[in-house]
Amino acid sequence: MSNTNQGKVVLVTGASSGIGEAVTRALAAAGHRVVIGARRTERLQALTLELREQGLRVSARALDVTRLEDMQQFVAFAEATYGPVDVIVNNAGVMPLSPLNALKVDEWNRMIDVNVRGVLHGIAAVLPGVEARGKGQVVNVSSIGGHAVSPTAAVYCATKYAVRAISDGLRQETDRIRVTVISPGVVESELADSITDDSARDAMKAFRRIAIQPEAIARAVAYAIDQPDDVDVSEVIVRPTASPY
Ligand code: NDP
Repeated sequence: MSNTNQGKVVLVTGASSGIGEAVTRALAAAGHRVVIGARRTERLQALTLELREQGLRVSARALDVTRLEDMQQFVAFAEATYGPVDVIVNNAGVMPLSPLNALKVDEWNRMIDVNVRGVLHGIAAVLPGVEARGKGQVVNVSSIGGHAVSPTAAVYCATKYAVRAISDGLRQETDRIRVTVISPGVVESELADSITDDSARDAMKAFRRIAIQPEAIARAVAYAIDQPDDVDVSEVIVRPTASPY
């Protein structure tokens, strides 16, 4: 990552922990102006303060990606703070895994709301602006679960397949907006904390034994953003070397 780039205005959703937090740190350190959103605002404020003390440009706003108006206000806040949005990193996601016959319908809906609707809301909020300006980038975080399905992960995987489908559709519909899908393998974060089903939680302990740090994903995001306007890094999988998944 270089400090010599122009410093894009980059939005990061789900920046209060894990991958989003690491992406924020990496992009701010690289000289970008980063606007971060999530529901846990105290975490966003702490991160913002810490990075500003280093002279970096970061601003935070409360954001629930399941609400379109919230996302639109998030984008408006970013534009008022730093100017037109160059990049949105649609990273917010949840993963309350369970077998389908546990009928945790509320959790299925939450995954659809955050992981699919949240990404669509991010796209809807920035697309008019980036289309009008004739350039911009949408970075969507999918998963290895967007490439292969496993037991207890049917709905989660469906949402991550959907992220890839939406991204590829957007990419084909435009010749000037760069669309990037980043698919992490197992990364250390709070993602598995939301699992309420005992069997899924036990299965995940084994599945998540070999993990990489969120900074690995942040480097991939920074790489995709740093490419010239005519180069679209459209899909990247980043997984632990030692992981079979
Ligand atoms: P974390 O649980 O650490 O982070 C998830 C982030 O999403 C949090 O900042 C959380 O913030 C935010 N979030 C959840 N719901 C909402 C909402 N309604 N509105 C706004 N923000 C929300 O997990 P990760 O960092 O691992 O996850 C980041 C992304 O990476 C997800 O899309 C996940 O699916 C994907 N991924 C992760 C992998 C891993 O192994 N860790 C593997 C493959 C993909 P808050 O609760 O404060 O709102």
